[in-house]
Amino acid sequence: MGTGKLTIDLGAIRTNWRNLAAMNSGETSAVVKADGYGLGAGKVARALQKEGARTFFVAMAEEGAALRQELGPDPVINVFSGHMPGDADMIHDTGLVPMINSIDQLIRHVEALPGHPFGIQLDSGMNRLGMEPAEWGAVAQVALEQRPTLLMSHLACADEPDHPMNAQQLKTFTELTDGLGVPRSLANTGGVLLGPDYHFEMTRPGIGAYGGLPYIDAAPVVTLDIPVIQCRNLVKGETVGYANSFTAERETRIATVSAGYADGILRALGPKTHLYAGDTPCPIAGRISMDLIGVDITDLPSGSDPATLELMGRHQSIDTLADNADTIGYEILTSLGPRYSRRYIGG
Ligand SMILES: *Cc1c(COP(=O)(O)O)cnc(C)c1O
Repeated sequence: MGTGKLTIDLGAIRTNWRNLAAMNSGETSAVVKADGYGLGAGKVARALQKEGARTFFVAMAEEGAALRQELGPDPVINVFSGHMPGDADMIHDTGLVPMINSIDQLIRHVEALPGHPFGIQLDSGMNRLGMEPAEWGAVAQVALEQRPTLLMSHLACADEPDHPMNAQQLKTFTELTDGLGVPRSLANTGGVLLGPDYHFEMTRPGIGAYGGLPYIDAAPVVTLDIPVIQCRNLVKGETVGYANSFTAERETRIATVSAGYADGILRALGPKTHLYAGDTPCPIAGRISMDLIGVDITDLPSGSDPATLELMGRHQSIDTLADNADTIGYEILTSLGPRYSRRYIGG
């Protein structure tokens, strides 16, 4: 097999979600947008459904319609982007619940689908999605008469517990929603970890279930093993890869593995990242190419060329890789390409 093998531990996702759910007394939903953070929305959502999740969030209606096929009629599927033009049939036919973001969306929704459930997203300071406080002030009464299922907002800085933005958004959200008698939701993974003040009736963890920071106690979910195509010896002074960016300082053995930046192994990872042969770290040698990476395996015992090398797993987490590329674990996961063979365990 020429492709890397991505092993996704659904049991670990279930454990992480269950442990996050145990931190709060309300309902815990599951965020499975962007194909379940790149890990397979249907597989992840079905595993979490078995674990007790009854409400799921996606980014757009198309994702929700696909998820409905996987989950059957019972779970609630909420859509962060709300009711977009042209989505009425899909929202109706697949029973999605749009999180209404503006007065325009509210009008569109109640005109096209009177009586169809919806939630409302409020902007508490992030300025990304949701009604502004003034907008909400103008339509709250009319909207509440239609009995929204949820009032939600999103935290901008929840992964920084000491950031004053958290308390400020909590205050704004509370002022906008107190006493209205509608279930509320504010917390993503970071918000769950901020404590009970942030939990309200429903939390919305995503990354923590997938094994990423800020949920520091998360069980690792993803392992990536990449096949070695060939190995060669270099004498001192020979170079590897584009732009000759690696020069052998000694007699060197190089393994060429079968994956590259087209598979989401960000080119910026190169200088700081290792692949593992068992427990032995082997540095990347030279530039990461589109489909290939050179790895310095000189320090392995001679005659023990590995068949595969591990890029992600117990030795190197998605957050270590994210640090190496100056990004976040979310981007490492959602960049994982379509060429890997995917194996699900622990479902
Ligand atoms: C992505 C997202 C979440 C989940 O956030 P995590 O940081 O992955 O836990 C929750 N709510 C909204 C609105 C989101 O966009």
